[in-house]
Amino acid sequence: MHLANRVLVTGGAGFIGSHICDRLIDKGYEVLCVDNFFTGARANVAHLLDAKTFELMRHDVTFPLFVEVDQIYNMACPASPIHYQFDPVQTTKTSVHGAINMLGLAKRVKARILQASTSEVYGDPSVHPQEESYWGNVNPIGPRSCYDEGKRCAETLFFDYHRQHNLDIKVARIFNTYGPRMHPNDGRVVSNFIMQALRGEDITLYGDGEQTRSFCYVDDLVEGLIRLMESPDGITGPINLGNPGEFTIKELAEHVIDLTGSKSTMIHKPLPQDDPKQRQPDIGRAKEHLDWQPEIALRDGLTKTIAYFDGLLKEMS
Ligand code: NAD
Ligand code: UDP
Repeated sequence: MHLANRVLVTGGAGFIGSHICDRLIDKGYEVLCVDNFFTGARANVAHLLDAKTFELMRHDVTFPLFVEVDQIYNMACPASPIHYQFDPVQTTKTSVHGAINMLGLAKRVKARILQASTSEVYGDPSVHPQEESYWGNVNPIGPRSCYDEGKRCAETLFFDYHRQHNLDIKVARIFNTYGPRMHPNDGRVVSNFIMQALRGEDITLYGDGEQTRSFCYVDDLVEGLIRLMESPDGITGPINLGNPGEFTIKELAEHVIDLTGSKSTMIHKPLPQDDPKQRQPDIGRAKEHLDWQPEIALRDGLTKTIAYFDGLLKEMS
């Protein structure tokens, strides 16, 4: 049986990582949050700094880390195209060297380790919805490749450490997630649209806006990640975690305009290279193995996220 008390969250000061830290502290774990603050911020975990069971450490996972823990959530990696394309070599290093370092740590201290993989391993998918058995359609040399191929290589490393060293691994393939503490300038569609709507600026649809995404509220995702981490030994994944509700980008814009009461209008901008046309998770495995499915509807999640960004804008003014 796997018993855990001390948990390492890499990328713990980021959007998803900080929500994991919150939930783990609530559940009574000791949490070590490690981050180099490239896209994360102390502010995301500032409310935890007084907790006796919480520790924050500045560290870059591309360098080895020597700590004693029972579980590792390996979340460190910029997730938005603007940020991961800013220094693509560092992005690949974070995924690949970061995975090697965290897997080495897990091996030394016999910890269970969960990898934050991504729907991007499916690339621009030719199978819809995406099941875990689909191997993907990924450009190895494009602008998104540092992220997509970095994450694919990290999955390879996880499964090789599992086969070669019997490591206790869990691999989650996360689909588009949104919620409070998303970076306001990360260029992602939910944060862009909400900020544009709240400021009364034009809403920028890339391409015709008919491409689809499936948006999962962060609380649902974190529940799925923790269930996966706490699942029985034999369940390694990969397991898709996301919300199967599929929307066009134009529909998302309409919801945001409606919920903010904004006077913003939609304009079209060129579609970025290699932008996937559609994306929707098949979450059959998560339902079967984790008894998990998202509970929060898009409009409810958007309402909470809009309130967060509204608060940020008021702080900034
Ligand atoms: P984020 O950018 O908010 O968080 C990533 C965190 O990792 C940040 O705090 C950043 O400072 C830190 N980081 C980056 N490089 C690091 C390094 N070398 N060493 C230490 N820390 C480093 O992004 P997020 O949305 O919270 O994503 C978290 C994880 O989930 C990422 O691995 C991402 O690939 C994965 N993921 C996210 C989504 C999504 O929709 N948000 C979808 C699929 C996968
Ligand atoms: N997108 C858009 N307007 C924006 C930002 C993004 O139309 O201001 C589109 C983007 O081209 C993509 C979708 O929204 O088709 C989701 O983009 P995001 O960067 O959030 O995530 P990803 O492409 O990684 O799924």
